[in-house]
Formats: sequence, C-alpha cells, structure tokens
Amino acid sequence: MAPRVIIIGAGPAGVRAAQALVEAGLRPTVIDEGRRDGGQIYRRQPEGFSRSYDTLYGTEAERAASLHESFDALKTSLDYLPETLVWNISANAVHTVSGTRYGTLPFDALIICSGATDRLMPVKGWHQAGTFSLGGAQVALKSQGCAIGSRIVMMGSGPLLYLVSAQYVKAGAQVAAVLDTSTFMQRMAALPRLLAIPAALKKGLALTRVLAKARVPVYRGVQPLEIKGSPQTGVSGVTAALPGGKRIELACDAVALGYHLRPETQLADLAGCRFIFDGDAQQWLAQIDNDGRSSVKGVYLAGDGARVRGADAAERSGRLAALAAMHDHGMQTAGIKDMEGLRAELARFTRFAAGLREAFPWPAKFAASLADETIVCRCEAITAGELRRVVCETGAQEANRAKAFSRVGMGRCQGRYCGHAGAEIIAAAACVPLSSVGRLRGQAPVKPLPVALTEEVAQ
Ligand SMILES: Cc1cc2nc3c(=O)[nH]c(=O)nc-3n(C[C@H](O)[C@H](O)[C@H](O)COP(=O)(O)OP(=O)(O)OC[C@H]3O[C@@H](n4cnc5c(N)ncnc54)[C@H](O)[C@@H]3O)c2cc1C
Repeated sequence: MAPRVIIIGAGPAGVRAAQALVEAGLRPTVIDEGRRDGGQIYRRQPEGFSRSYDTLYGTEAERAASLHESFDALKTSLDYLPETLVWNISANAVHTVSGTRYGTLPFDALIICSGATDRLMPVKGWHQAGTFSLGGAQVALKSQGCAIGSRIVMMGSGPLLYLVSAQYVKAGAQVAAVLDTSTFMQRMAALPRLLAIPAALKKGLALTRVLAKARVPVYRGVQPLEIKGSPQTGVSGVTAALPGGKRIELACDAVALGYHLRPETQLADLAGCRFIFDGDAQQWLAQIDNDGRSSVKGVYLAGDGARVRGADAAERSGRLAALAAMHDHGMQTAGIKDMEGLRAELARFTRFAAGLREAFPWPAKFAASLADETIVCRCEAITAGELRRVVCETGAQEANRAKAFSRVGMGRCQGRYCGHAGAEIIAAAACVPLSSVGRLRGQAPVKPLPVALTEEVAQ
C-alpha cells in the first residue's frame, strides 16, 4: 500500500515536498488555510487582481513564477484542500475545518510546513489602532495593494524591517523613518556568517540603497519607547531613544513593528514532537534531524516552521523531508540520490540564518525595562505589571502557570504574539534563565473555529 502522506502548508516548503512525492508516484494531500497556494512570500493576489509578477515579487519574481507553475502542474496529481485549517492533530490523523464543515484525515506520514510569523516585542502604546506587525503591513500591500497609513514608521529589527520599508517606498508610500534596534557593529560582526549566501547579502544591501535614495532616515541602535495616540484617533507618533540617550519624536499615523520571525510550532506540539531550547535563537524549537524527521515517527517538519532559514531553504527542506518520508517507508525513489546535496545546501542556509540572528538580535533586554502599564498580551489586555505581580506574588515562574494566573497567552493568538516577550518578562522578574521559564504548550484549536460546525465532510 502506498503511504498516505499529508502536507500542511502550500508555501515553498509544502509545494516542493508535494512535488517530490508526486514525482515518485504518490498522491499526497496538501492542506492550506489560505485561499491560494504560494505561502507567505509568494502569496498569490486574489482572483481578479492583475498586478504583474515584477510588481508583486520584485527580485523574487522568477522564483514565485516557478513555484506557482510547479503547483499548478501538480494539481491533478494531488488532493488540494485550500481554505482548510488544520486545528488539531491526534493519533495519526489531522483534524480540519473549512467554513462550517469539519473532517478527520488519517495519515501514514505528515509533513508540517506551517511557516513562521512575526516575532514581536511589546512597546508602550502598541495597542493603538494603526499599529501593525511588519508581516501584517506587507500582507496589506501584497494582497490588497494598500498601505497601512499615509505616514508610516517602521520599527524593530531583522531583514523584514528593511524589506517591508523598501517595498512601501517602491509602492509610493511615505515612510517617515526606519528605527532599527540593532547596531552597525552587530552587522559587521555577523559578516563572515552572512557571506555563506552572498546573493542574499547583496539583496539586503540593495534594500538599504532603496531607502537611502528615497531619503528615508534610518536610525540604528534605537530603543523604541512609546507609540503615541488615542482611542479616538489611533496612532499619532512614536518616541524612541537614540544610542547616546537623545530622544526623538516622529509624527505618523501608522507603525509597523517586528523582530524577525518565529516558527509556527503549535501543530508540531499537538503532534507530540519533542522540543529543545535553542540558546542561539532564544526560542523553543521542535527537535529535528538534518532531514526534518521529528521525534515522532512519521512526522516531519520543513520550511520556516521548523527553522527560520528563508524561502530558498524552505524549498530544499520541503523536498528533503518528503524524500526522507519515502525513504522511511522503504520506497527506493530516484530523488533519494539528491538528499546528500540538499543537506549540504541547507547547512549553508543554516549558517546564513545564524548570521542574521547575530546581525539583528532579539532585544531581550527591552522586556525587563517595559513600563508596568505596557500591555503585553493584546488579546486579553494584560500589562507587564500584572504579569510581574503574578510572578512575584504567586511564585509562578513557568510560562503555563503564569498564563493560568495572568491570562497572558490565553487569547485568540494563543501566545503567538506575546509568548516570547511574556517569557522574557517572567525570566527577568523571577531572575531565572529564559530556558527555565519553558514555553506555552500548543492547545487545540490552534486558531479560532466557528461555534457551529454543521456538516462532516466525507473524506
Ligand atoms: C509575514 C511574513 C512576511 C515575509 N515576507 C518575506 C519576503 O517578502 N521575502 C522573503 O524573502 N521572505 C519573507 N518571509 C519569509 C518567507 O515567507 C519564508 O521564508 C517562506 O515563505 C517559508 O516558506 P514555508 O513554506 O516554510 O512557509 P510559508 O510560506 O509561510 O507557508 C506556510 C503555509 O502554511 C499554511 N498554514 C500554516 N498553519 C496552517 C494550519 N494550521 N492549517 C492550514 N494551513 C496552515 C499557511 O497558510 C501558509 O500558506 C516572510 C515571512 C513572514 C512570516
């Protein structure tokens, strides 16, 4: 019997995984909650929109076209379930919901390619209307062709900070300033690792030239202090401290912020995968081997959902995980000879990704200095002061215990946006290392479901 393979995610990793399986004669099922394939970076515009590939994807136009063409060619050879959320995984089956219909799909092998989301650090006032994550700001532009405001401050750190700023400039939006928390020296120190992928480094430098040409002020080594505004008018400005301590105030009507990315790991957690604390990334990640095998037999992880290494690496890791799954099922396919080469290429991307983390470090220290009244959990409107109070008064020094007492991480984002900063605040308040705070456990449903599910899909 051919193994039943399910792929979650139709981004670069999922598409290349599907391609490897179809090449070997299998008929995988590809599930994605998005309306169309392409994932985050190669997000396809809605039906009826007609912007060109160059306009939408810039330097990545050829790669986007290649991925879309590959998937279009595969569609008759696989079962594709768009607009379908995987909300739980249990006992070799995934649980899905699409609209008001639900279903259960058994698998012999599961390849989770769930991608990443923005990694966020709170700042006073970030609950003001008009504050977006960098990823959210980019989705507005890519998907709907609209800007988040008429005068925008981009804030945080990481490659997405420069990419989204340059994309907004090219689209004709007014970027008031880029406030980067990382320093020039950190970037210089990371150069040897960044040289692992010279083409990517070159693309990054080109983005800074776009900003320079448009005369967008770029401040480095900044500490964001406050997003100003009111409930009536939303965002009205930003204050930040420059390296010497001088304060700047910038007027704006929208802010996009983010500190690179975090893997979307909740499905791996529900599948029972073992997690390890990665001291370099300062994150808990599902344990995988070089091919993407998790600690659970038959469950594989690929793409940014496993390790944030970018889209080119995601394509390779998707293919590699599919080949590993077939190998583990005793299939001798022609593609298996590619595995060694794919592993070697991925090692270069891993080195480059480590360089990015060094160049744009997660500003853990800001968590300790957040004012008590700063909202940490935006879903539940819980402040840093309340979380600190819980840590000090109840002794809750573990993430899930602190969540139970404070509700930080209990809202509809399930800790995706507040979990990392929340853990930093707990660690600082309890004077313990971040690793001992643990991580918020994944809970089903991973995203909100309709209350009424009326019809079971025959699958
Ligand atoms: C917001 C954001 C913007 C980015 N912009 C850029 C950029 O402009 N340029 C660049 O080089 N890199 C960018 N990156 C990084 C880039 O998107 C990734 O490196 C690349 O897309 C990773 O591919 P992937 O297949 O691992 O994941 P993705 O492309 O993210 O695909 C994951 C897919 O899984 C689906 N999925 C996730 N969870 C579920 C679930 N529970 N049920 C069903 N489907 C699910 C999602 O809908 C998505 O389609 C961005 C990342 C993010 C998060």
